[in-house]
This record gives sequence, C-alpha cells and structure tokens, in this order.
Amino acid sequence: MKYYSLNNPDIQASFKEAVLLGLAKDKGLFFPQSIPSLDKDFIDNIEQYSNEQIALKVIQPFVGKDIDQDTLEQIVAQTLSFPLPVKPVDPKCHTLELFHGPTLAFKDVGAGFMSRCLKHFVKDSKQKIRVLVATSGDTGGAIAHGFYKQKGVEVIILYPKAKVSDLQEKQLTTLGHNITALEVEGDFDLCQTMVKKAFLDPEFQDLNLTSANSINISRWLSQMFYYFIMYKELKQVNKPLVVSVPSGNFGNICAGLLAKKMGLPIDHFVASTNANNTITRYLEDGQYKPNPTQPTISNAMDVSDPSNWIRVMELFEKQDIEVKSSVSAYSFSDLQTKQKIKEHYQKTGQILDPHSAVAFLGLEKFQKSNKDYHGVFLQTAHPIKFDNVINECLNIEVEIPQELQKLYENPKIATPISSYQDLKDILLK
Ligand SMILES: *Cc1c(COP(=O)(O)O)cnc(C)c1O
Repeated sequence: MKYYSLNNPDIQASFKEAVLLGLAKDKGLFFPQSIPSLDKDFIDNIEQYSNEQIALKVIQPFVGKDIDQDTLEQIVAQTLSFPLPVKPVDPKCHTLELFHGPTLAFKDVGAGFMSRCLKHFVKDSKQKIRVLVATSGDTGGAIAHGFYKQKGVEVIILYPKAKVSDLQEKQLTTLGHNITALEVEGDFDLCQTMVKKAFLDPEFQDLNLTSANSINISRWLSQMFYYFIMYKELKQVNKPLVVSVPSGNFGNICAGLLAKKMGLPIDHFVASTNANNTITRYLEDGQYKPNPTQPTISNAMDVSDPSNWIRVMELFEKQDIEVKSSVSAYSFSDLQTKQKIKEHYQKTGQILDPHSAVAFLGLEKFQKSNKDYHGVFLQTAHPIKFDNVINECLNIEVEIPQELQKLYENPKIATPISSYQDLKDILLK
C-alpha cells in the first residue's frame, strides 16, 4: 500500500516510510491510496475468528510486504495482549472498555502497535531514532511505556503544564532512561504546534525525528482493531449500530470511520466532545472556526483544531453531506459531564471517567431521536486517571491499581520550556 500526503498527492510513501516519518515532508498527513474492502463472508462469519486473526486481516493490506507475516502476527498478538471487554449497560446500549492496557487508556492499542512496528523497522539500523510526541495527557504515557528502555530509541514528550492529571504526569515524568518529559508553558495545541514545527525545521533534517501522535498512520490504522472486535461481540443484537466516541484529535473516530469504509456494519458514529466543539459547529454551519482551546475536566479532548479531521473529510471525499450522514457531533459542558458521572454511579455503582461520561451523553442524545439504534459508547480511560474529578463528583476515592502505586513514590523529572527555541536547544544539544 502506498500513502500520499493530504497536501500534495504526488508526495508518496510506503507503509514503513510513512510510519518512520510520521508526517509527510510537506507537513501533510499520510492517507492510504486506496481503501480495501473486506469480503462480506469475513464480516458475516466474524465470530469464527479470534481477535488476533481479525486484527491481522484488517491491517494486512495496509502493511503489505513491509513487515513479514510472522512478525506482523506477533506484533498484532502483543498489541492485543489485554482484554477489550464489551459490557451491557442498559437494554439500549453496551460499552466498550478500552482502558485495560498498561497505562489504562485506549491509546495503549495504537501506541503499542506503533512502538512495535518502529522497533521492528529500526532493529538493524545504527542510527538512533527520536520519537517526538505532544500529549494532552494519555498519549505520552502510552508511548513512553511502549518504548521504555528500548535501545536506539529516544522519546521526547511535550505536555501542557498543569493541564494533565496527577497520575498522567507521573506516568510521563518518572520513567527516566530514554524518556524525556518537557513541561510546556501553554496548552496542548501549543505542544502540537511545536512538534509540527520541529518536523519542518531544516536544522533537524539529520535527527531522525518521528512523530508518535495520532497523525502517525500506525496508530490511526491499528485503532480499527477494537471496532471490529466490538462488532463481533454485538453482531447478534441485529439492529443498526451507533457508536459514540469521545473525541479530541479525532484519531479514534477516524479509525472507526475507516473500518466502516472497509465494510464494518456500523451505521452511525457520534463524535462526543467537551466545550472544545469546533466540529459540532462545523457540522451545523459548514464553517471550520477553531476557538481558543478551553481547559475542561475531560482534558485529553481539549483540542480545538483536531489534526485528524482532514482525514475524516478525505474519507468522505470532502463532501459535507456524506460526512453528516455517517457522523453526528455533540458537545457537553463540564457540569453535564459531572452530572452524568453522578447519575451513572447512582444507577449502576459503576464509575465513568469524564471522557467516557461525555461519550455516554453523546450516545443518549443521538438515541433520543433515533430510537431504533442499538448504542455503544467507548470508555477511553480508567477513572483513576481522573481521580480528582471523581472525588469531587462522588466523594469517594478511586482505588489505585497496585502496579501504579509505585509511580506516586517516584520523583517527577521534567524540563520546563516555553518557546520553540527552548525545544530546539534541547533537541540540538
Ligand atoms: C486521547 C483521548 C481521547 C481523544 O481521542 P482522539 O483520538 O484524540 O479523538 C479521549 N479520551 C481519552 C481518555 C484520551 O486519552
């Protein structure tokens, strides 16, 4: 499979090149030249396949010959080495829990796949590779975990100061070794802007920089796995399916939409967002007008200019009407989110993290006027990652999983930066 730059279709790359580069030379996001369709037979009989077999079948055409079959099988199996449970919530909906990975966020799937692909690609290379990543909270931890102590790989994480939760910050800043955390005076969009700038900077041409953000195709594509796995579990429901995805940079939902394009029978998607509602407004009036990013309690979605939206548009050949027939977007306030966390806890005794609560709100809003759909909302983080919010809403302490308790004892090591020049100085030293 070849990938082209969304800025210029003449700029092309193989799977391997696109994974290593992250972003095309002209700053464009990579996009597959064609979208394979899975045969109907496979979809109709999906329950006969293991999760690993499903994932392999889905990813194989995108990887082509760039990774040999045995290695790809291994990578897929390791990527899916934790549970992805689909649980009933009420008669109208299920939830897909994506927080059982090593850093308790759904990003463990994409980051796990990406880090294993990169390890494979650089294993015989003498040159060190540097992974540069901006995080709104969860990406950094998942990437750091994926590459921790990996020879030949250095990870540099940019995170917005005081805008990530305590546990998230611990996951980024206490590892040391080949992981460097940079604490940026600013918001996530600034972190992301700095990373994008670094990729274009001629002074870094020899640095072997790659991006681990959801713009990297290996993260985007592998997130399709759990949509297929979820469908396997819910096929017997036998109703049109709507899936609500808590969205920030829109990588996750873009993977779901790609899965749909390949033939996965999900009828509709809901992009559920917090106050950072650029896409909700866009789908209403056709104007793409990002406002300044607003901090919210669902901070991993504090993104006002979502990088992957351009891919969503490309999937629908830039036709707003087509997008709207597959995607609805709703935005919810922190107050509504907190109320949802309380209400759900009172009803079920289950704790939703703020992002998952936003997803549930979006699903309910859609189902209110579309009653014949069966719903699924994605839970993208374990509530412990946002224990301050949970504590405030429910007045209870979320129990810290034992493996994570150690993190709290380790000292934070992060370098404060406030400008692109600061980043440059660190990279060039
Ligand atoms: C990253 C993240 C999101 C947003 O995912 P995108 O792919 O950027 O839309 C939602 N919830 C949590 C917990 C996250 O970490």
